[in-house]
Amino acid sequence: MVRLSVDSSSRVNDLSERYATSLPARVSRLRQAWANFRAGDKKALQTAHDEAHTLAGSAATFGFAELGEQARRVMRDIEVSMMTSEAKRGDQLTAIEGLLSQFDRLLGESRAPRPLAIASAEPSSEPFRVDGPKDLPLVYVLDDDVVHGEFVALQLTQFGYRARQFSSTDETKCAIVEQRPDALVIDAVMPGGELDGLQMLHELRRLGYGGIPSIVITVRSDMIARLEAVRAGTSAYLTKPIDVIALVDRLDELTSTEPSTPYRVVVIDDESEVASYHALILQQAGMQTAVTTEPLEAMALVTEFRPDLVLMDIAMPECTGLELATLFRQQELFASVPIVFLSQDQNADRRLAALAHGGDDFLLKPIAPEHLVTAVTARARRSRWLRNRIARDSLTGLLNHASLRQEFEFELSRARRQRTPVAFAMLDVDHFKLVNDTYGHAAGDRVLEGLARLLKQGLRSTDILGRYGGEEFAIILPNTDEQEAVHVLERLRESFSQIRFSQGHPAFSSSFSCGVAAYPAINDASLLRSAADAALYRAKALGRNRIERAEQAAH
Ligand code: GH3
Ligand code: MG
Ligand code: MG
Repeated sequence: MVRLSVDSSSRVNDLSERYATSLPARVSRLRQAWANFRAGDKKALQTAHDEAHTLAGSAATFGFAELGEQARRVMRDIEVSMMTSEAKRGDQLTAIEGLLSQFDRLLGESRAPRPLAIASAEPSSEPFRVDGPKDLPLVYVLDDDVVHGEFVALQLTQFGYRARQFSSTDETKCAIVEQRPDALVIDAVMPGGELDGLQMLHELRRLGYGGIPSIVITVRSDMIARLEAVRAGTSAYLTKPIDVIALVDRLDELTSTEPSTPYRVVVIDDESEVASYHALILQQAGMQTAVTTEPLEAMALVTEFRPDLVLMDIAMPECTGLELATLFRQQELFASVPIVFLSQDQNADRRLAALAHGGDDFLLKPIAPEHLVTAVTARARRSRWLRNRIARDSLTGLLNHASLRQEFEFELSRARRQRTPVAFAMLDVDHFKLVNDTYGHAAGDRVLEGLARLLKQGLRSTDILGRYGGEEFAIILPNTDEQEAVHVLERLRESFSQIRFSQGHPAFSSSFSCGVAAYPAINDASLLRSAADAALYRAKALGRNRIERAEQAAH
């Protein structure tokens, strides 16, 4: 609970008094609108809705929680009744009347304002989790063609979404009022009328449910329909037959809440207070830091922590920052990590010398916290971007062969140190040549993209994915033994085989075979690779669309 200063606390009390005084009038406006509606003024229903809406939004803030809750119920019921045809409304109207009649009691009970609950500004005690289980985004699919709608919904569930399918706008609207989805996929044309699906979006906005990201899927590709879709505020427009990968691509963009991975910075300074101070500033800006006061230990720390950037002092006893930078630059693994020097040294020549030794930037101590954060962020962002460009395959965005091998060496040495298992899997798309030959190379590319996406979504953020070559993929699963890895991959194999690719006509599905090997049963990177490869070829020989284990072969 935040403690208010006397000043602001009395202002809040004043406001709350004024609110309490105005409350009976607010309630009677709601009732009047409702009475007007019942007397035949159809527009008054919207007025009643809006009155209930404001009440619901404000009452609790000023201590009238119950009244606010009641207003919210009225608001929802009005919304539902707006979406129901007039003939079927009877019961709903009676229910609303019942709710409205209770307002007198609530007013009487709450007239004395209760103590205000003000949101705590203290940090939550929940630990920050990078790779914890996430709630899957919820997507509502509206399509009057039930079979097609179900198809789309089902496909989405293969890509890490929860999907619910509806066949009428009324159904969809009611569901939205009940639970707001993370995105909508709607068929623009409904039997009720031209572009009814888009009409629904306008209506939702009027009711205060605007802003839900929406994607239109439609048979119409004319300008009028496209223009209407833009006006309805949709984010994407896809024509049927629907390309699931394209749909999922857009949904990913629209629903992504994933914070970007924090930048990692190693701070090297012989004065521990200074080092900790700088690290703290960077941490407060959301970065992860590792600190050392021993230049001679810096190499090990950088190997272990793998920073996006190294921030180091120049004047240090055992080994100067310049020497250390030169050392880093001589090793391939660290050659590209940006080094930013922090020093009191104002001498221009010496600053130039620092840059000549492989430093990327030179900051003067003492530095204002916001300057430090800006300088480090800019460097780290660029370094990560460059590294990604170089290390990643352009079609799938996965690590390329060389980077994956490097990662594997790294994970393996970490596993040895920490005495944890690590699994290595090789995947190869089945009869991929046939896919290319039958549906074309572009369709083949889509399959590879689809598989990459499925793997990204289905694995933990700590798992490392690479495109090993053509239609071969490799996965490193840290802290995972062979059996667990098979378990995880089995699920992905099943999902992948259920995806229908409709780039070409007719739609087709694909599958992959997979071989898995793991440390410590096998204790060498190249042996692990060849064991996984051998298992993969056994999977092919045994009929494809299956996973084989290296360990089983050994027994
Ligand atoms: P198997 O089930 O035994 O793995 O059969 P396969 O047809 O998948 O294996 P094969 O190695 O004979 O064929 C692989 C094909 O993958 C040949 C190559 O043209 C195609 N390919 C490789 N890279 C790409 C790519 O980036 N895009 C597309 N569309 N095709 C690719
Ligand atoms: Mg293949
Ligand atoms: Mg192959």
